[in-house]
Amino acid sequence: MKVPLLVIGGGLSGLAAAIRAARFSPDILLVEKHSRLGGLNSYFYRNKTLFETGLHAITNYAEPGNKKAPLNRLLRQLKLPRKELSFCQQIQSEIVFKDCESLLFSNDFEVFRTEISTKFPGVADHFHRLLRFLEDFDPFSPAPFRSTRKYLTATLPDPLLVEMILCPLMYYGSSYEEDMDLSQFAIMFQAIFQEGMFRPSGTIKDFLDLLDCHYKSLGGYLRLSCGVKKILVRQNRVFGVELETGETIECDHLVSTIGHEETLRLISGCTIAEPNLPRLGFVESIFQTQEPSTSSLPSDRTIIFFNTSDRFSYKSPDDLVDFSSGVICFPANFQGKPIKSLREVRSTHLANYRKWKQLSATPADYSAQKQVTSSRSVHMLENIIGSFSANIVYKDTFTPVTIERYTSKIGGAIYGSPIKIKDGNIGFSNLFLAGTDQGFLGIVGSMLSGVSIVNQHILPKL
Ligand SMILES: Cc1cc2nc3c(=O)[nH]c(=O)nc-3n(C[C@H](O)[C@H](O)[C@H](O)COP(=O)(O)OP(=O)(O)OC[C@H]3O[C@@H](n4cnc5c(N)ncnc54)[C@H](O)[C@@H]3O)c2cc1C
Repeated sequence: MKVPLLVIGGGLSGLAAAIRAARFSPDILLVEKHSRLGGLNSYFYRNKTLFETGLHAITNYAEPGNKKAPLNRLLRQLKLPRKELSFCQQIQSEIVFKDCESLLFSNDFEVFRTEISTKFPGVADHFHRLLRFLEDFDPFSPAPFRSTRKYLTATLPDPLLVEMILCPLMYYGSSYEEDMDLSQFAIMFQAIFQEGMFRPSGTIKDFLDLLDCHYKSLGGYLRLSCGVKKILVRQNRVFGVELETGETIECDHLVSTIGHEETLRLISGCTIAEPNLPRLGFVESIFQTQEPSTSSLPSDRTIIFFNTSDRFSYKSPDDLVDFSSGVICFPANFQGKPIKSLREVRSTHLANYRKWKQLSATPADYSAQKQVTSSRSVHMLENIIGSFSANIVYKDTFTPVTIERYTSKIGGAIYGSPIKIKDGNIGFSNLFLAGTDQGFLGIVGSMLSGVSIVNQHILPKL
């Protein structure tokens, strides 16, 4: 079998890359190791109820008329009619820091601006200067790493405000410990604060099914439970892949969305000289609760980003989990009709992959620590949102080891390597990287990554 383009990985970047290419060429092949699409953003069933694995909220909300907005550009590039996707905007979200400092934000940027000028009256002019800087800043022009912390500290005179702004942006888009690249900061500031957050009105399964149908209607082929074992290279050019089943598929071009090092590991004789920077791991817990009438959960917050320690720390913790900061998500708290099955509270905290990996060698201990993690997370959340543990009817916790098992991401690192390959070029004439390690993070980011790599490197040659 020979195809013009083979895409490895049926996560959102691979799906977007395959759809974009299928619009211009028949016989595109997308292969996914897992039995389901979605990668980091997939779903599973327990007691016949669907649980989403990743989705809290999609960033980059835009109204339909805003043609230049990343979301609308993405939909146009994939030829996905917006009316087929019903979007629910967030109600409002909050950043909560120690000593009850709080900043609200919503999809109306004025809410955030007013919060800052009311709660940090001395910094209004400085904040305005930051906005002007971001207006003129091009985050897509190639540049070496620039420290956001350094820039913000020099721009905003209040260290607490610096930390409060960084907390959501790091949690939703930094693969780098304690800092983030200034370009990534500019992208995430626009994505979260200036554009805002939303989710599809259905579940992530509905969204993935729609992408799957659309791809197939364009003539694309999909093979699930189809892991690539080797990428076959001759004189710096890929000529095909060998699947875990032993079957060989030839291709003219290859897009890999599985990560930089993960891709090179599939090529015989290839090694990566990556600086020894830690990859960030997270634990995510899902607490399904009873009917809202019996629940005391907040109904007017979509996401809460919190920090309870003196200084917000965004790094791989020494312990299994750092409970001092995190994200709390209420998937039912979006505008419009809430999805019945998503009566949940979700929590995310930073976690230490190495410690969880060691522990997983002893399944009973690993399982016990997951229980402990779940209980400690509930305890921490209850300090912020009030008591809800009595309403929990089902709970589950996944660790970096779970993420590694289901997505083959090294270190179970959701945001991949701290080093990003922005042009997708990893040294082969017809193999390009898209997705997490190309540099765009999150759902809209990873999908735009798939589209832009195909536009830049594949379409001119198809
Ligand atoms: C708990 C959690 C919460 C999140 N919350 C949000 C959120 O609220 N909003 C948001 O925007 N983003 C969120 N994200 C991040 C978002 O899910 C990711 O950024 C995005 O989905 C990455 O997509 P990707 O296609 O680049 O990578 P992946 O999703 O990792 O896709 C790669 C795919 O490649 C497959 N694969 C790996 N090796 C092989 C192989 N050898 N052969 C074939 N296939 C292979 C994997 O199985 C996987 O399906 C969250 C992620 C997690 C885990």
